[in-house]
Amino acid sequence: MRDDGCRRGSTWLQFCPQCLAEDAQPYFRRQWRLAIKVSCPHHRCGLRDRCPSCRSRIAVFNQVELVPQHFCAVCGFDLRRASTSFVSPAIRSLDRCIHDICRLEAITGTLLTNSLVSSLLAIPDFCGKYRGASLLSLSTLARVRCFERLAMHPKDWLIDDDDAVVKLWRRSILSVDGHATLIGLLADALQRERQEPPPAKRPQRTSELSMLLTAYLRVMEDPRVLSARKGTAHVSTSLAH
Ligand SMILES: [Zn+2]
Ligand SMILES: [Zn+2]
Repeated sequence: MRDDGCRRGSTWLQFCPQCLAEDAQPYFRRQWRLAIKVSCPHHRCGLRDRCPSCRSRIAVFNQVELVPQHFCAVCGFDLRRASTSFVSPAIRSLDRCIHDICRLEAITGTLLTNSLVSSLLAIPDFCGKYRGASLLSLSTLARVRCFERLAMHPKDWLIDDDDAVVKLWRRSILSVDGHATLIGLLADALQRERQEPPPAKRPQRTSELSMLLTAYLRVMEDPRVLSARKGTAHVSTSLAH
């Protein structure tokens, strides 16, 4: 997210009022800085990017006195009291799937080499809502409108990639609606593998592993992805670990 200074443009930061209200020590999540995020998965509401009282952008670094960050730096409004905004289940699902795909590909390193980021940045142009605009330049509300339009169309644009394994995982994430548990398990396992030398014996969570493998086999049996089988030996090996 970047602040373009325009009233209808993007701001530095978004927030979920309910997340802030539930925090013992309210803080702004790192993912609220991402232009691909428009909703809160915990409270099933839309994010906000402006103070509801003075309409200023959220710029906690501009505070002139030592007060908690959930007070607007301009008018002092307590952002925990802001009303929540509605977003449809279809928008939340798309948000979740894009987030999970990016999370997985950031860990595996493929996000650096494939065209996903440029496709995401071009969403406003692609969905025909804001011609020529980058996703980074739009307010939360404008991005919600883009997601609204995208959610009504097939997700082929999100699956398309030269790598058969990447396509397979994107399709599997979309087919299980951004299954947080499935992706979380895989992402955590990959991250551990990258950060630590494998221990001699690692405790295995049998039921979760079995759920992961069942989901994987279900995807493999889908006729739409049979053609991608050629590239899945690597995935099967990773799962076995
Ligand atoms: Zn929340
Ligand atoms: Zn304010």
